[in-house]
Amino acid sequence: MATKYHSGVIYLGNSSFSDYICVSEQGKIISDEEFHSSEIQTEVNLDGKFLSPAFRDGHSHPLFAGRESRGLDISDCTTEDQLIQKLTEYDQANPTLSWIDAAVFDRSWNIRFDRSTLDKAIQDKPVVLHGDDHHTLWVNSKALEIAGLLNTVLPDLDSGVIDIDDEGIPTGILREWPAMSMVIDHAPKITTAEDIQALLWADQAQAAAGIVESVDAWIDRGMAETYLAAWESEHLQLDYTLCFRADPATFLEDIEYFIKMRSALDITNGQISGSSIKFFADGVFGSASALVSEPYLTTGEHGQSIWPKERFTEAVNLAHDNGFQIHIHAIGDAATNLCLDILDKLENYTYPPVIAHAELTDQATLDRMVLLGAVACVQPYWAQNNGLLLTCKEHLGQERLERLYAFRDMAETGVTTVFSSDWPISTYEPLKGLAVAVNRSEFEGQVIHNSDQAITVEHALANYTVNVKKMLDSENTGTLEIGEPFDAVLLDRDLFASEKQQLKTTKVLATYKSGKRIF
Ligand SMILES: [Zn+2]
Repeated sequence: MATKYHSGVIYLGNSSFSDYICVSEQGKIISDEEFHSSEIQTEVNLDGKFLSPAFRDGHSHPLFAGRESRGLDISDCTTEDQLIQKLTEYDQANPTLSWIDAAVFDRSWNIRFDRSTLDKAIQDKPVVLHGDDHHTLWVNSKALEIAGLLNTVLPDLDSGVIDIDDEGIPTGILREWPAMSMVIDHAPKITTAEDIQALLWADQAQAAAGIVESVDAWIDRGMAETYLAAWESEHLQLDYTLCFRADPATFLEDIEYFIKMRSALDITNGQISGSSIKFFADGVFGSASALVSEPYLTTGEHGQSIWPKERFTEAVNLAHDNGFQIHIHAIGDAATNLCLDILDKLENYTYPPVIAHAELTDQATLDRMVLLGAVACVQPYWAQNNGLLLTCKEHLGQERLERLYAFRDMAETGVTTVFSSDWPISTYEPLKGLAVAVNRSEFEGQVIHNSDQAITVEHALANYTVNVKKMLDSENTGTLEIGEPFDAVLLDRDLFASEKQQLKTTKVLATYKSGKRIF
């Protein structure tokens, strides 16, 4: 049975529109002739709604988001009283829980970020709060005690920070993974069945937001196995590219496992690909740990390099020689240039290399990215004056703050720019990211963040669709042209004809993947 979709505004994703679109039984977009020569024909009236290529998320953490959704949501708290009340009520309602996990706290809250604040709510079991940057944990005394971080000499960490008070006692704030894992490693292990449920929840949430494909940018041991098990359940709907996380301490052993897992995923016929390795070049601005060329105003330092340069170069080379895509977290300008120095020496990419975040760039850096064919995988939702941006201000100063998220310069310089969510750090909904990319603000009355860097709806759509396909070096284009799979999203309003301020209230009515309606 072939289907003809008509009577809507149909955007093909290649700067052109069509009056209708025909789809084969197998879910491929076909020509008029093919449609008329098919035995059974049916029609779908789009009723004036807007059909566009479906969204793709270039950098997300669906499994983490799914796991996080199992804990307590504290994102709506704004005061200490509210937080304590919420934690206390949750503890009373869930007496069997041996560990309290909650997300996310806003680091710009005017609250004393100390273990004693959380002790007011719960003392007899560990409480772990995840910060909105997901690079910060705030824990109570019990959690520190279980991690062996109280009444002891603190360990020397290669990177990451355990904040201490005047007496050298941990305050309860842990920064970056090496410090955070000292507590998190003691959390009760999630069962395989629970993990699959968490992933399927995230899968469905993304489908409902118009997404048909997602890149999971942090895969540790056990996570690819969850993806595989979810695929075997036959309920996993989206396509995924998994990025195995390169840990500087264990990379040489881990890469053997990455290669093995990449082959194991072949069974999914391309629905899940293990083709990428994720590196961290630096930290984040909010903790003054991203690598910057000019020192931070607060610390006078240049941030933290996660790898010694020589070992970083070796590791990237090894990943490249084994045919993996290089996907590097680089936030500061010095981190991006450090990556480009390393990438500069590599030849014959299987996939274009990806700089994830690339938050602080200048023209020279963007020119280098074009030359090297490096993709900028950025988060449009962050380009607004909110708490996340404010936590960077004191460290960077106003001038550098204004230079963040130079999406228009990227587009005009010719850098392949991919939009992504970094969910659960921020919302997974592409329409919200798209609205911020166009408006450089989310809400009316909000101070606009560098309006010069606003981009058009057409560019924003490309960054969420065809450019993601380019980044993944896919056979498909991500458009709605003849021969492509019918991967499409139906929206309640024409994005091109809408008032810019209304974009964020656009609703997803249906999501199609290879012709099948998945939402
Ligand atoms: Zn990320």
